[in-house]
Amino acid sequence: MKYKRILLKLSGEALMGNRQYGIDTERLQEYAVEIKKVVEKGCEVAIVIGGGNIFRGVAGAAKGMDRVQGDYMGMLATVINGMALQGALEDAGIKTRLQSAIEMDKVAEPFIKRRAVRHLEKGRVVIFGAGTGNPYFTTDTAATLRAIEIGADVILKGTRVDGIYDSDPEKNADAVKYNSLSFDEVFEKNLKVMDMTAFTLSHENKLPIIVFDMNKDGNLSKIVDGENVGTLVDL
Ligand code: UDP
Repeated sequence: MKYKRILLKLSGEALMGNRQYGIDTERLQEYAVEIKKVVEKGCEVAIVIGGGNIFRGVAGAAKGMDRVQGDYMGMLATVINGMALQGALEDAGIKTRLQSAIEMDKVAEPFIKRRAVRHLEKGRVVIFGAGTGNPYFTTDTAATLRAIEIGADVILKGTRVDGIYDSDPEKNADAVKYNSLSFDEVFEKNLKVMDMTAFTLSHENKLPIIVFDMNKDGNLSKIVDGENVGTLVDL
């Protein structure tokens, strides 16, 4: 196993499956199966999930809503997604804990780093909800922050595209995929991997990022075993 402790970042939109909004339970079950495969190998798995399938603060602000209010709504959306994922994982027989950056003791533990690490050591999947707990941040930044805090070996950004391309592969048929890139190359080529706050935090803390297609069977397992899947961004 190449990576012993991973931080898996899933976007809220990934949970929509083919729907326009909300949560696709079949997609959740598929993810639970993929995650179970790596947990059974002995890999320690922490997950940060987005909220874009339910609410984004920026979208609310564009329609006249207070940005801070909207961002808190977005953070709550990530807790809803986290609870849904927790349910699917537990159904698949995986032990889990949900920790929230905003205290809500009826549904989640508060985020406590040492406790999160202890859960991981015991083989429990830890889901971090409510992002960083602060407005004006994203769940990519939350994922990077938590990954650094718990000492993850890598951040795995599961998307619907199989890596980083020189142009948008959904718009340009000739787009070329990179197998690996340095942080400097991503910056120079102005490639979109994560937002700049998250990207800088990863770079400064020497935390590698792998962008990969989470919807492809077995991909997560292959990455954990060290196979060259997706695009690796490293020093
Ligand atoms: N959010 C926030 N602070 C955080 C993380 C998230 O305010 O630390 C809010 C923000 O409004 C964001 C929304 O929660 O738009 C959902 O998160 P994100 O857009 O990162 O989700 P994703 O795009 O991964 O689905």
